[in-house]
Order: sequence, then C-alpha cells, then structure tokens
Amino acid sequence: MSEKNWAGTREYSAQTVHTVHSVAEAQHIVARASKVRALGTRHSFNGVADTRGDLVSLVDVPPDIRLEDDGTVSAAGGTTYGVLAAWLERERLALHNMGSLPHISIAGAVATGTHGSGSANGSLSSAVRAIDLIGIDGEIVTVAHGDGDFAGSVVALGALGIAARVTLAVEPTYRVRQDVYADLDWATALADFDAVSGCGYSVSLFTRWLGDTVPRVWVKSRLEPGSDGEMPDRLFGATLVRVPQGAPGTEENDGTTLQGGVPGPWLERLPHFRLDATPSNGDEIQSEYLIARADASGALSALREIGEQIAPALLMSELRTVAADDLWLSTTYGRDSLCIHFTWRNAPAMVGAVLPLIEAALAPFSPRAHWGKVSAVSPAAAATEYERLTDFAALARRRDPEGKFGNDFVDAIVGRE
Ligand SMILES: Cc1cc2nc3c(=O)[nH]c(=O)nc-3n(C[C@H](O)[C@H](O)[C@H](O)COP(=O)(O)OP(=O)(O)OC[C@H]3O[C@@H](n4cnc5c(N)ncnc54)[C@H](O)[C@@H]3O)c2cc1C
Repeated sequence: MSEKNWAGTREYSAQTVHTVHSVAEAQHIVARASKVRALGTRHSFNGVADTRGDLVSLVDVPPDIRLEDDGTVSAAGGTTYGVLAAWLERERLALHNMGSLPHISIAGAVATGTHGSGSANGSLSSAVRAIDLIGIDGEIVTVAHGDGDFAGSVVALGALGIAARVTLAVEPTYRVRQDVYADLDWATALADFDAVSGCGYSVSLFTRWLGDTVPRVWVKSRLEPGSDGEMPDRLFGATLVRVPQGAPGTEENDGTTLQGGVPGPWLERLPHFRLDATPSNGDEIQSEYLIARADASGALSALREIGEQIAPALLMSELRTVAADDLWLSTTYGRDSLCIHFTWRNAPAMVGAVLPLIEAALAPFSPRAHWGKVSAVSPAAAATEYERLTDFAALARRRDPEGKFGNDFVDAIVGRE
C-alpha cells in the first residue's frame, strides 16, 4: 500500500489504513489488533503517526457536536476544527484560538500540542476539558480535567489510545480584524520582543532570516462588541500594508483569510488559511522549535547569524508566541513560549543538512521540537526537555503495558525496546 501524509513527504508503513464510520467500528479494530494507532488528517511531517500495524482514521465518523450541560462542547475526535468552528459560530460560540489552518482534526492536533498564536493564549490542547479514549481492549475510558491522569493524557502522541471524542472549553463568539505591517526593524523587534509579540490578540512575524528587517508582521486584534477597532499607520516603525495579500514569499497565494483590517468572525480571521483553500504551500516540509519567550532575543539573534545557511532551503519562517500550560508533554509546558517555525522546500537533503545547524544555535535555549514536525533530534532526546517525562512514560506503560499503541517514535519516548 502507499498511503502518505498530507504533504506527500512521508509514506506510512502501516499494513492497513482503516477509515471507520463509527466509534464502535474503531473499538472493534483496536480490540483485535496487536499494533494499532490513530491517524488524523495527516498533517504531521514525521513518524509520530506511523505504525507497522494498523492505522485507524476517524475523520469519517460523524462530528456529533454537542453542547454539554457545563457549557463545554464535545465532538468526535476526527472532526476538523473547521467543521467545529462553523458549528460553534452558528451557536454564537467560539474557541479561544485556532492553528494556522482549520483543516486539521481536533484529536490529531491536540495529540501533538498544536498551537496558534498570542502571548496570553494557550495552545489548542490547553482548551481540552475531557477525552474519551479507546483503550487497549476497545473499551472507552474518559479522562477529564481534574483527574490525576488528565495532564498526561491530552498531548499524548496517540500513545494512550484513540481519542473517540474530545471536549473543549468554549466562549461567546467574538470578532477579529487582521492587519499586515511591512518591514519591522530586527533591532526594534529584538529590543522589546514582548511588546512586539504582544501588540495584538495573535501576532505572527514572518522572516527569511536575511536583511535588517522582518518583512511582514500580521496582527490579529480581538474586537470589542460594536467596535471595528483601529490600527496605526506605523507600528514599532513598521508600515501598515493597505492591500490584503497572501503570506510573504507566496504573494500569489489566495488561500489566506481576509486581511486589510476588515472585521470578521473569529473563525474567518484567526486561522491564516481558509477552509476552502489549500493551506500553506502544499509541497513542503515543516519544522518548529519552542523556547521560553524570555529567551527570544538571544535565540533569534543566534538564528540570524546563520541566516545565509537557512535561507536556501526555506520558504518562510513564522514566529508566534503561546502561553504556558501544565500538560506534561506539551511543548509549552511550564513556560510562556516563542515558537520558531520553518516551512521548507520539499528538499529533504537540504533540510536535513540545515536542521543540525539550527538545533546547535538553539541548544543554549533548551528548544522543544514540535511533536508533529521534522527535526534532527531523536524522539528520545527530544523527550528529555520535559520535566514530567517519567510520569508520562509510567502512564503510557500502565494504560498500554504491551505497547499496542506504540511505534518507533513513541516507544523511544516511553523507553520501550
Ligand atoms: C499546512 C500546515 C499548517 C500547520 N499549522 C500548524 C500550526 O499553526 N500550529 C501547530 O502547532 N502545528 C501546525 N501544523 C502541524 C499540525 O497541526 C500537527 O502536526 C497536528 O498533529 C496535525 O493533526 P492531524 O489531525 O493531521 O494529525 P496526524 O498527523 O494524522 O497525527 C498526528 C498525531 O496525532 C495522533 N492522533 C490522530 N488522531 C488521533 C486520535 N483520534 N486519537 C489519538 N491520537 C490521534 C496520531 O497518532 C499522531 O501521533 C501544521 C501542519 C500543516 C501541514
């Protein structure tokens, strides 16, 4: 068989990919399998989702979105954020944040700690309030906020079972506008990175690591009811771009959500990419490293020094900030973070050559590699950046003593042979 990830850069080694239409079907497969893992919408770039056993995709299970008595909202795990967001908006509800694309599944996204942006906004995983997991015998186990295992069960890389249903915190709907600024001086950005990255509800800096300026800054402002907001012509010396446009470096890209300061609902402004368009470039590889936001200036300066070596393989880098959480394997566990993202050309040899340089430059800042993206560091070494690793490994072994949900990636992290 030849089943690949979304970007087509990684072929799964699974014997079979089962696309189920009900949770019961997934439970049956899990109960009978010796090795099995969940597959979401395939937007990861590394081996985290793979298995030599069976893959079970829940993306065709009906979303079955429900408003719960306590005001949370639950949905089938394979539901995409795009489908959930449209439902929420119809109910005049919202999520606190979105990733760059709405195409990813809820369970797959929270399993790897997927984040959006905003210094005061936690990752998407931080909104999880409960997960219904299909365990090794096919039984459903609910783990809810407040349970002892909860903080280890959200960003769990699929190691604890298959999330049949995920419950999320929601809030009343709100509007957002996004404004684009050009040519922010690097010196200004580095002098007060907290102020720059905190100048909107969600802020993204786009760079190719060359030159003295950050070419584009996207500022997403959350609007008060009844107000369309106002943004200055100059922000930290950067100039407001009046014409909405695609991501820098991909000017022809019309897949982005509306910019130019036009107010709109949260779900049509917080993601960079529209649900009805191909997100990003498509033919690409991605990497990302998360460090403490307090180290931003030092880390970004170190990367600028190797900018000439990074640029040839790079399509675009994006810098975002995310608030700390307490989820054991979250890349933002215990620290307000800066996320340093790289969208690469689909050129594995070039990417493979430059990643060790980036990781060496970031080494003094204890970088955590995004669990769903490509890095040079092994999963076992990546896991040493997490204080609660031992607790997570114990939880995984308790829930799954034989490693039914294991694969090379997860087994290395939890210390299985
Ligand atoms: C164009 C693009 C843009 C992106 N933007 C962002 C971004 O803004 N922020 C960010 O942080 N990341 C981003 N990513 C990375 C992406 O969000 C993560 O890789 C995410 O895990 C993908 O979710 P998925 O549903 O495709 O999961 P998959 O890639 O299918 O699987 C990822 C992991 O989740 C597990 N999993 C999937 N479904 C379940 C389930 N039902 N139960 C238990 N485990 C499950 C799998 O076993 C695997 O370990 C982006 C990726 C792409 C391709």
